[in-house]
Amino acid sequence: MIRFISDLHLDPSRPDTIRAFFCFLENCQTDKINSLYILGDFFETWVGDDYIEPWVEQIIQELAKSNKHFPIYFMAGNRDFTLGKTFANKSKLTILKDPHTLTFKNKKILLMHGDLLCTEDLSYLKFRKVIRNPALLFILKRLPLKTRLNLASKLRDNSAKSMQQKKVNIMDATHEGVIKFTRKYDCEIIIHGHTHRPKIHDILIHDKHAIERITLGDWGKTAIGLELNEVNFDFKLIDYMN
Ligand code: MN
Repeated sequence: MIRFISDLHLDPSRPDTIRAFFCFLENCQTDKINSLYILGDFFETWVGDDYIEPWVEQIIQELAKSNKHFPIYFMAGNRDFTLGKTFANKSKLTILKDPHTLTFKNKKILLMHGDLLCTEDLSYLKFRKVIRNPALLFILKRLPLKTRLNLASKLRDNSAKSMQQKKVNIMDATHEGVIKFTRKYDCEIIIHGHTHRPKIHDILIHDKHAIERITLGDWGKTAIGLELNEVNFDFKLIDYMN
């Protein structure tokens, strides 16, 4: 059994979600899962691996503990893309690039955070390209902590403001995006988060290719994740909160 989760947006202001995550890890152990994939926006913000508050330290410890029982893979989202090797090493996580492909029983699965699939949100994609530029990232990571904290809160405000202005559909994954990436990586299944609209979608047919798409949910009132049974290749969205 493999589990996929995303968009927990862990933050000290939401201790319930942090607790739910720890329960979830324990449950993964009890259920003897084979591996866990975290597909981005695990943290609400990440200003750098050198800024580890006590609540983050606890998360590191729980991740490292769980890693003795099953491997945990981490792909960054738009909120935590500056998370780096120091955090990953401490928590014993394996970092994955976005996108990443998995193969099971000759089926290829594409894993993505999901922001790249929102192909109609041109202003965001443009911003993403700039901010993810390795040279700029190199500079960003070396700014004084205070500057980085200010920058993070400004970015959050701006993103909240622009989200209010944008039409809801612009911020959703498009068929065009789904087709573009699944065809490019020759995958028939895609699993992603980001949009906070958990769903096992209807099969999308394109050019005689059937594409199965699964969107993960965000955590808060619910804790929706995906379970893949590798024996019968069955996918199930489960609310781990209830
Ligand atoms: Mn996101």
